[in-house]
Amino acid sequence: MKSIRRIMLSLSMGFLWIYTLLTLGYTGCSKTENRRSAAADQSSIEQPWQGQLVSADDRHLSVFLTRILEEAEIPQELAGHIQGLAAEGPAFLLDLLAVLEGDPYLRALVDKRHALPAGYEPDDLVELTNGSYQVSRRGLLLRRPAVMALEEMAVAAQTDGVSLIASSTYRSYSYQETVYNRNVRESGQETADRESARPGHSQHQLGLVVDFGSIDDSFAQTRAGRWIVANAHLWGWSISFPQGYEAITGYRWESWHYRYVGRELTYFIDTYFNGIQQYALQFIYHWEKAGGF
Ligand SMILES: [Zn+2]
Repeated sequence: MKSIRRIMLSLSMGFLWIYTLLTLGYTGCSKTENRRSAAADQSSIEQPWQGQLVSADDRHLSVFLTRILEEAEIPQELAGHIQGLAAEGPAFLLDLLAVLEGDPYLRALVDKRHALPAGYEPDDLVELTNGSYQVSRRGLLLRRPAVMALEEMAVAAQTDGVSLIASSTYRSYSYQETVYNRNVRESGQETADRESARPGHSQHQLGLVVDFGSIDDSFAQTRAGRWIVANAHLWGWSISFPQGYEAITGYRWESWHYRYVGRELTYFIDTYFNGIQQYALQFIYHWEKAGGF
């Protein structure tokens, strides 16, 4: 795994190097050679040299990317858009690398098909207290990096005259079990699956998720709801279940449910995946599974 990562990194660095040379218009051959030929000759020496190296890297990346985009079930139009951006230069690989260097739980795919490791419990949970944001009750827990990011975001919101309320955060495996079983009893399995997660499948178990405000659709129309849509990504928070993506995420629109994924990943999601967290996480999951980097 390490050596593959090294190879991919050197590939991306090579890509960066070639890209830089092309951008700077480097001729790629010695002045001695150039001196004896006219400008017309010069281009005939340069082009095959540059073309060969660039297309070799392009081909390698493009083939691998196509495979991963297919495995990650990225819709064709979006996949084409990503291929186009990746072909433009090294930015895509470097942005991806920045995500992969971070805490793996920030990018962990946890959905109806992918569970967390059995019994997973973060070891840096902190209890939230009233401060720049409000808490709806005592005992709400979040992982330390998420607490810091929430604090920073809440201060920015306050500056804009908006107050954020954290209403639900970390949920342990056993808590999910209780809630899910109760929902099945009260509303039937289909509704329970649509509105709650099976034990082990909730993003809340990561300790990186906050449900804000009223935890219902009215939140979207509040000042906090509107502010958070526009600004959350700047502090590394991403909406998990956006409107119109129930078939992709498995959940109806939840305007209140935000996951802390870090700024590198919100940038990656917004730049390459049209702001859809689920697509980016599926892509990263399959990229890592295939041993990319
Ligand atoms: Zn939630």
